[in-house]
Amino acid sequence: MSVQTGQENKQENKRSFFDFLKYKTIKEDDLNDVIEELRFQLLDSDVSYEVTEKILEDLKNNLIGKKVSRREEVEEIVINTLKKSITEILTKNQKTDLIEKIRSSGKKPFVIIFFGVNGVGKTTTIAKVVNMLKKNNLSTIIAASDTFRAAAQEQLAYHASKLEVQLIRGKYGADPASVAFDAISFAKSRNIDVVLIDTAGRMHIDSDLVEELKRVLRIAKPDFRILILDSLAGSDALEQARHFENNVGYDAVILTKVDADAKGGIALSLAYELKKPVVYMGVGQNYDDLIPFSPDWFVERIFSS
Ligand code: GDP
Repeated sequence: MSVQTGQENKQENKRSFFDFLKYKTIKEDDLNDVIEELRFQLLDSDVSYEVTEKILEDLKNNLIGKKVSRREEVEEIVINTLKKSITEILTKNQKTDLIEKIRSSGKKPFVIIFFGVNGVGKTTTIAKVVNMLKKNNLSTIIAASDTFRAAAQEQLAYHASKLEVQLIRGKYGADPASVAFDAISFAKSRNIDVVLIDTAGRMHIDSDLVEELKRVLRIAKPDFRILILDSLAGSDALEQARHFENNVGYDAVILTKVDADAKGGIALSLAYELKKPVVYMGVGQNYDDLIPFSPDWFVERIFSS
């Protein structure tokens, strides 16, 4: 317990007198316009409806009844609170450092499998990951297990020779699982650190494809499963994410073509609905155009559009 002097009492009275002038309590009405504008911005950034509503609800719960200085704009506080809540959603599942995971696994070879619908940038991304692993002194081999798409095999062969890594490929129509198996055996015999398996992505609704992927999974027993999603695909990308989760499952996402996309709200839906981290983003067509996903960067991007 403290004993207040007369002087302290006076100062306290003075302070609460100014508090009364300075502070205002936020009411729901104060927020209506700004909430509506935010709803529009979030939906326009490809954040799903469900996630948008959840974020706005949290925001209202956080702000209604809060005292704010009259001089501060309610809108500014809203934006800052929103940034905080989006960052929280995004950082919750962001603990996957791939290099660290490979090093600490004690597994040799460490097997990574890549899923994704044709055209999302899967082949290019595999090449970028090979490049990144090489820079971290991890040796690699690629298994071209999409044996039905000649173009994918050719592209991988091109990247493998440019990046000077081994590629195991099968004849057209060969068993994709056996290509993966051969690559893993080769890696074991040559002491290679990481095997990267490309897979077919001809149509994500194709049930034959799901069976094929399941077979590859059973035989390759990957240590890490990465789904490649095209950030330009908007809500379709989320649909693909759900499909792959329901059928084969994956650990993390790489979001491609973020350089060409002003939005990318898909990362929020992935984090919130599917609890999946985005580990890297593709930001161009060169091998070095793969950067770690940064929630801060992402939040800025949502608000700059
Ligand atoms: P796949 O069919 O999934 O193997 O897709 P590809 O790897 O062939 O990529 C399809 C197209 O997207 C190619 O023209 C790539 O150069 C391009 N691409 C892939 N990733 C990115 C990226 O991060 N940014 C941009 N701008 N283009 C990309």
